[in-house]
Amino acid sequence: MELADVQDDLTEVLLTADQIDAKIAELARAVEADYADRDPLLVGVLKGAVMVMADFARELKMSAAMDWMAVSSYGSGTKSSGVVRILKDLDTDLHGRDVLIVEDIIDSGLTLSWLRENLLSRGAASVEIVALLRKPEAAKVHVDVRYVGFDIPNAFVVGYGLDYAERYRNLRGVGVLAPHVYS
Ligand code: 5GP
Repeated sequence: MELADVQDDLTEVLLTADQIDAKIAELARAVEADYADRDPLLVGVLKGAVMVMADFARELKMSAAMDWMAVSSYGSGTKSSGVVRILKDLDTDLHGRDVLIVEDIIDSGLTLSWLRENLLSRGAASVEIVALLRKPEAAKVHVDVRYVGFDIPNAFVVGYGLDYAERYRNLRGVGVLAPHVYS
């Protein structure tokens, strides 16, 4: 689905598919350089990170295993609950692994700071984060994110994996959801 297909539901287009592609390539080059002699495990957080993971993993010019977790976040609302619950756990033993969490967006940072500690407590050798989008709010909770794609305004966005009530995930770009859709 293209941005033009849902233009009435968006107040603003933040990122086009081309801009996202270029940034994913940039992030992949940085990770390849840092992980040249390692065997990273990419951990995606369902469901939002599906698109980032699919594109980022294929863009990497090195073999990298993938695993998935599902944690609770917003439900169908638009505000972070701050409560993190594992809905689906990893299949991989993390002992000694260099984990790279692949995320769609960091908002409050609560989910990621919790997740990093959780994965480290399972014996991972390292846990770094790749996030395509970051909101300014993220600065309020300290999360050390090594690879960030774009800093975006503090608005509720959809597209490229990010949903509102399970819709818009299949949108190629990213836009700000118009209030009339959720109010
Ligand atoms: P945090 O714990 O950093 O506040 O939120 C992380 C999760 O909340 C993200 O992985 C994502 O699922 C959801 N989220 C945060 N901001 C947005 C947004 O603007 N749009 C959508 N669709 N989800 C968001």
